[in-house]
Amino acid sequence: MPHLKTILLLIGMLFCICAPAQAKALSVDDVRFGVHPEKIRMVLDLSEVSDYRVFTMDKPYRLIVDLTSFEWRAGKVARPAQSGVRDIREGPLQPGVSRIVFDMDRPISVSTAFVIPRQGQTPDRLVIDYRHVSAQTFRVDKEKIHGTLRASDIYRNQNLATANPPRNDESAPPLPKAKPEKKPDKGTNKTGGKKKIVVIDPGHGGVDPGAVGVDNIYEKHVVLALGKSLKAQLEETGRYRVLMTREKDVFVKLADRVKFARDNNADLFVSIHADTIHKPNVSGTSVYTLSKEASDAQTAKLAEKENKADLIAGIDLSVEDEQVVNILFDFARTETMNESKFFANTLVRNMKEDGVKLLENPSRHAGFAVLKAPDVPSILIEAGFMSNKKEARLLNKPEHREKIARAIRKGIDAFFEHVQHYENN
Ligand SMILES: [Zn+2]
Repeated sequence: MPHLKTILLLIGMLFCICAPAQAKALSVDDVRFGVHPEKIRMVLDLSEVSDYRVFTMDKPYRLIVDLTSFEWRAGKVARPAQSGVRDIREGPLQPGVSRIVFDMDRPISVSTAFVIPRQGQTPDRLVIDYRHVSAQTFRVDKEKIHGTLRASDIYRNQNLATANPPRNDESAPPLPKAKPEKKPDKGTNKTGGKKKIVVIDPGHGGVDPGAVGVDNIYEKHVVLALGKSLKAQLEETGRYRVLMTREKDVFVKLADRVKFARDNNADLFVSIHADTIHKPNVSGTSVYTLSKEASDAQTAKLAEKENKADLIAGIDLSVEDEQVVNILFDFARTETMNESKFFANTLVRNMKEDGVKLLENPSRHAGFAVLKAPDVPSILIEAGFMSNKKEARLLNKPEHREKIARAIRKGIDAFFEHVQHYENN
């Protein structure tokens, strides 16, 4: 069967051309410890210079070293008892990033981490100095991150389905934005003047009306109008590029809303909704972030309801859901979730200041499907209760929507001012 052979050969050749070789340029070739009176020095021999990120975690105490994807060639690492290292694990964390976990038998604090470039026969090295500290000092110091490797940058634009399953480190400290490399000779900071990309996501639409309130007011219409008002206000500042997941009365799948934000490299994702509840006197705005566990029973129910949007439209997303669940608690997500929480709190504060009526405990969390972009800080706003006669009618008025939009805009301003502050300091 020469024909079949030829075809198979051709297919084989195609694979060779198309399948990217597992190019793992970086390897960790050795790890050594030096015990000094005032510090312990850990040296990692690298095949080449890599971005890195070094920080600590507790429960149990760990030293974490993230590098660009590497091959582990250090074998079994000898470690003196004084190093405090009980065990070492390593492996891929997410596309583009691999992690080394040093299990420590006591709390430590990293004083410095730096790269020494290759000199003659001596290879590139990552040097980490740390010392044993009290549990209290550990708690203070564990927020510090040494190095500039940014998980979310690398994570951006990666296919959800190809994400590596998380390893054992779901919990991580909030990551401040990495300091951009200063290049004084070049003069300009490339990203400095760039507009932040905000994606507004008016909930529901088309076949899915969302909540239906008093006077037959539809959530899908109210939130689209509110979204447009917010877009106008954000654009007026000249600071943002604003995109909407829908600009008319159309149905958009939950996963596609998330994908839209990721494909457009959104810096922020704001999903807008309006709720109903069986208690007609309940009213007020509330803000939601993603979490594994719901903050309260009411929010759990709300998330369940909002997550049914696709089902209401007759779409079964169980397969896609599974992929999303698999990447739910990886490192990039933890960082993003912390940013989202920070944004939610900023928003609530600005709403209070602007006299927007808030629900009690207005900052809540649950497993909202639409907030699952692993690399885009995302929040969901319930602008009010359409089951409350007064609030439903208010939400139907442009002035009221403008007031809420203004408070949201101020919250977004405050959020990015904080982020900018981190990037500049
Ligand atoms: Zn909704």
